[in-house]
Amino acid sequence: MSAENIETIVNLSKRRGFVFPSSDIYGGLGSSWDYGQLGVELANNIKQNWWRWLVYERDDIEGIDSSIIQNRLVWKYSGHEDTFSDPMVDCRECNSRWRADKLEKPECPNCGSKDLTEPRPFNLMFRTTMGATSAEDDPTALAYLRPETAQGIFINFLNVLNTSRRKLPFGIAQIGKSFRNEVTPGNFIFRTREFEQMEMEYFVNPEDAPRILQEWIDSFWQWFQDLGISEKNLLKYEQTDAERAHYAVRTVDILYRFFPEREDEDKQWDELMGIANRTDYDLKAHSKKPENEEGKRLNSDTTDDLSYFDPHTNKRFYPYVIEPAAGVNRTLLAVLMDAYTEKEDERGEKRVILKLKPELAPIKVAILPLKKNKDEIVEMAQKIKKDLLGSMRAVYDDTGSIGKLYARQDEIGTPFCVTVDFDSLEDDSVTVRDRDTWEQVRVNADQLKNYLQERLIKS
Ligand code: ATP
Repeated sequence: MSAENIETIVNLSKRRGFVFPSSDIYGGLGSSWDYGQLGVELANNIKQNWWRWLVYERDDIEGIDSSIIQNRLVWKYSGHEDTFSDPMVDCRECNSRWRADKLEKPECPNCGSKDLTEPRPFNLMFRTTMGATSAEDDPTALAYLRPETAQGIFINFLNVLNTSRRKLPFGIAQIGKSFRNEVTPGNFIFRTREFEQMEMEYFVNPEDAPRILQEWIDSFWQWFQDLGISEKNLLKYEQTDAERAHYAVRTVDILYRFFPEREDEDKQWDELMGIANRTDYDLKAHSKKPENEEGKRLNSDTTDDLSYFDPHTNKRFYPYVIEPAAGVNRTLLAVLMDAYTEKEDERGEKRVILKLKPELAPIKVAILPLKKNKDEIVEMAQKIKKDLLGSMRAVYDDTGSIGKLYARQDEIGTPFCVTVDFDSLEDDSVTVRDRDTWEQVRVNADQLKNYLQERLIKS
C-alpha cells in the first residue's frame, strides 16, 4: 500500500522532522518548506543515488555545478526572457490569480465567479538586481535566478568538452536549486517557487537521438523503481504537439500517482520528470552565428561557437541534446508516499511503517537498551552505537518503552533496530529486528557491523 493522499505525508513530515513549513514562527511564506533533520538526509540520499548511477557507474557523464545567477544574455538567447511564461487569469470578483491551463472549469476555484480576465502570459523568472549601487529599476543591473539548471550546462558545453576530451555521445549532469515565480504553487512540496532539480544533458549525433531518447526513458522508468517506487504508481505520458516546448521534437513525462484520492483516474497523475529530445536548439541558440538562412542576424553577443568537430568524419555540427530532468522534491514526495504503509500490531493498534529502501533511509540503525537503568546494558549499547557511527548513520534511544521505540523507528523508515538485553552481557550478542517483517535474529556483537552492511549496501 502507499499513502492515501499528500496530506498524510504532510502530517508525518511535520510530526517526525522530514519537512516543516518555512518561516512558520512568522506565519509562514506561501508554499515554502524547510527540510528537517530527516528530510535533508533523505534528499541527500536520493541525490547521491542519482549522481552515483549517472556519473560514477557509467563512463560517459561528467558532473558540474554552475552558478544560479548568470549573465542576463543567457536567458535572452535561451528564449526564457521571451517565452518562459505560464498563461495567467485574474478573477474580477475576488482578485485571485490562477494558471489558466490548470483550471478545471472556466471559473474561479476560490469564489466560483465566471468573471475572469483573458489569459495573459506571466514570465516565471525571479528578477533581482546585481551590484551594490544598482537602483531597483536599472536595466543594466537586472539579473535572474535560474529557472532551470540546464542552461548552466549548455553554456559550459565547450569548457567540459575541451577539458575532458570527451567524444559524442557524452553527458553533463548537474544538481541544484532553481526558482520559478509559479502563479499557483501548492500541494506541499510538489510545486514550490524554490526547488531543486537533477538534470542531465546528453549530447548525441542527431541521427542517434530518437534511439537514445528511448533508452533514457526506459532507464529512468527503472531508476524510480530502484528507488522503491512501485510500477503501478508510475505512468509514461507522451506530450502532445501542443504541450511540447517549441524546441522539442519528442517529450515523454514520467508521472506519479500523487493524488490517489481523486475520483477521476486521469487526474490522479502528475509529472515527476520529463525526458526530452531538445534537438540542437540550445547549442545553436548560444552560438556565435551572425546570420541564419533567411539572412536574419542571430546571436552576435556571444564569443563562441558551440559546435562539435567529429574526428572520424571530419564534419562539424551541432549535437542534439537528450534531457532527462527530474525534481528532487517531487522524487522525495513520491518516495515517501510510496513507502508509507499502515499495519496493525498485536494489540490491534494502527502502526505506520515507512518502507524506504534501506539505502535511502535517513537513519540506518537504532540501538535500544532493553533496561535503561542497568548501567552495563546502557554502556554496551552506547559502545555499539559508537562503533557503528563511522560506517553508517546510527542513533541511540532509551526514552520510552521498547514498543514505543520500535514504533518511532518504523515510522521514520529505520531498517534495523538493535536491542541490548541482560543476555547480551553474558553472550555478547544482540537482537536485530527487521522493520518490514518485525522478525528478530540474534547476532554476535562482533559481527553486527558486517551483518548490517551486507543488508544495507545497494539493498
Ligand atoms: P510543471 O508542468 O509541473 O510546471 P515543468 O514541465 O515546467 O513542470 P520542467 O521544466 O520539465 O517542469 O522541470 C523538470 C522537473 O523539475 C519537473 O519534472 C519537476 O520534477 C521539477 N519541477 C519543475 N517545476 C517545479 C516546481 N515549481 N516545484 C517543484 N518541482 C518542480
